[in-house]
Amino acid sequence: MLKVEGINVYYGNIQALKGVSLEVNKGEIVTLIGANGAGKSTLLKTISGLLKPKQGGILFENQGIGGKAAQGIVKMGISQVPEGRRVFANMSVEENLELGAFLRKDKAGIKEDFNKVYEIFPRLKERLKQQAGTLSGGEQQMLAMGRALMARPKLLLLDEPSMGLAPLLVKTIFRIITEINAAGTTILLVEQNAHMALSIANRAYVIETGRVVLSGSAQELHASEQVKMAYLGGH
Ligand code: ATP
Repeated sequence: MLKVEGINVYYGNIQALKGVSLEVNKGEIVTLIGANGAGKSTLLKTISGLLKPKQGGILFENQGIGGKAAQGIVKMGISQVPEGRRVFANMSVEENLELGAFLRKDKAGIKEDFNKVYEIFPRLKERLKQQAGTLSGGEQQMLAMGRALMARPKLLLLDEPSMGLAPLLVKTIFRIITEINAAGTTILLVEQNAHMALSIANRAYVIETGRVVLSGSAQELHASEQVKMAYLGGH
C-alpha cells in the first residue's frame, strides 16, 4: 500500500532522514520505534506531504506522492494524527470532527462516519458541544483520532498517541487502535512506548539518527537483544 524508497529529508542543512525505506501492506499495523530526535515525526510528516524529500520516492497505491501537496494526499486516503494532538481548542468537539471531513462531499457517508466515531469514542458523543481545549489529554487524543477518521482514510498515521497519558488510558487508546485496524484501516504507528507498540503491531522498524537500523516482525523485534536493551528497558 505504502512504499517509502530511500528518502533523504533535510531541515535547512541538517539531514533528518538518511536513505529511509519502509513498506506498509494493506491491513497491517506497522510501528516505527526510536528515541527522541531519531526522525520518526519527520518521516510521518514527509508521508503526509508536510515535508518534501530531497531524494527518494514515496508510493501510495502505486502512485508517487513524494512532493504532492498535503491536501491531495489526504484526498488519496492518508490521514495523520499529529504529535501532541493539536485539536482546534476554541471549537467544539463536533466542529473539530466536521473539519476532519472538509474535503468530502458524500453527506450520507459523512453521517455514517460521525456515528462510527461516536461508537468508537462514546466519550466524544457525550461532549459534542464542549470546547475542545477544555477536554482532558486523553479526550483530546480521542478527538484527534476521531477527526482523522472523519476523512475515511485507508492509511492512518499516528504520531505518539500514548504521549502524556495515564497507563490505563494508554491501554484504552491501544485497544481502540486495534479496533480501528480490525475495521479495515491500515495503520502506521510512531511510538516511544515500544512495549505497547510491539504488542499490537504486525511489523516494526527501528530508526536511529535518521536511518532504519532494524526491521522485522513485531515478535522478532520484541525478542531482539538490541531492542530489549535500547527500547524495552532491558526486559
Ligand atoms: P521525538 O520522539 O522527540 O518527537 P522524532 O524521532 O520524532 O523525535 P523528529 O522530530 O523527526 O524526531 O526530529 C528528527 C531530527 O530533526 C531532530 O534532530 C530534530 O532536532 C530535527 N528537526 C525536527 N524538526 C525540525 C525543524 N523544524 N527544524 C530543524 N530541525 C528539525
